[in-house]
Amino acid sequence: MVGIYLHIPFCKQACSYCDFHFSTNLNTKDALVKAIIKEIENRYNYLNNNKLGSIYFGGGTPSLLNKQEFEAIFEAINKHFTCDKAAEITMETNPDDISKENLKIWKQLGINRLSIGLQSFNDEELKWMNRAHNASQSVTSVLMAQDEGFDNITIDLIYGSKFQDLKTWESTLLQTVSLNTQHISSYNLTIENKTVLGIQNAKGKEPSINDDLSSKQFLMMSDMLQQNNFIHYEISNFGKPGFFAKHNSNYWLQKHYLGVGPSAHSFDGTSRQWNVRNNNLYIQALENSTSYFEKEELSVKDRFNEYVLTRFRTIWGCDVNEIRSLFGEEIEKHFLKMVTEKKNDLEENNRSYILTTQARLYADGIAADFFID
Ligand code: SF4
Repeated sequence: MVGIYLHIPFCKQACSYCDFHFSTNLNTKDALVKAIIKEIENRYNYLNNNKLGSIYFGGGTPSLLNKQEFEAIFEAINKHFTCDKAAEITMETNPDDISKENLKIWKQLGINRLSIGLQSFNDEELKWMNRAHNASQSVTSVLMAQDEGFDNITIDLIYGSKFQDLKTWESTLLQTVSLNTQHISSYNLTIENKTVLGIQNAKGKEPSINDDLSSKQFLMMSDMLQQNNFIHYEISNFGKPGFFAKHNSNYWLQKHYLGVGPSAHSFDGTSRQWNVRNNNLYIQALENSTSYFEKEELSVKDRFNEYVLTRFRTIWGCDVNEIRSLFGEEIEKHFLKMVTEKKNDLEENNRSYILTTQARLYADGIAADFFID
């Protein structure tokens, strides 16, 4: 099934490591919601009338939208798309936005999955990240959401910072497991150039990531979470049975999705397009009915390269029969030749190849070796 992603590009404050598109100036929120609604109307045909299996509010911090703004967006979606009864409707939120009142509103709106940006249980680290919440809010936010009846919750964690050694990471994982959520996304901290962290790192005021320690943390996490009933189904994602993220799985399984809002990406099977990464330009373009996106037609080689890049990150892996039917016999031959070269990094299951746990540490590099120029 297909999905819609809505990018809500506002945050209360800028986290020191964050490279997503967002603004801390909320003055244009009204105009932006109107522009998003207009884009939904304009692109009613993008998904060819296929039923929506997932709606995902990401950002930014979508929980900064109020009830009326959400209602207006849902109204536009329901007017122009058909939503499956069992659709996963996710909203990203941060612990500081979670209150009894908000949880009730989100539930009434039909949001059935919360993605809570916990990141850490360490106050000093949260401060260093410039997060707007503390460790105790991290915990209580999840408990409150569970109390309000949210039974599909994912939390985000970050590892690899200078605050986490193996011992503290182990206790972070134990605390995470004790929250009893259905899903966990955990990302290795990366230092991006234009972020506060990147600038401080370039000046020598912040250390670079210790890759060796990060690798050990990754392997520890994979082990511990699997021992606790989570399936490590994508490099950074762990789900209990029946709770893999439908939205993200759409990306990894090459399903079609419509991305709405500034910086959002869309994919229709043969082309990819991405919206302008600037709130004002996006709003103006929608108001004036001018172009707000760039588009790239994907060649068979491009699609194969994307296939191996995403599939090697997952437990579904790269399937030889699927490769032949999607990309043809020549590319199948190329794939099998590379499989022979990389056999130490791969496990085979019924003509489908996945990376060994150890090889997952270098997934993107291994996938790149399979690329066709
Ligand atoms: S709340 Fe999320 S999107 Fe906003 S700055 Fe922090 S990490 Fe980035």
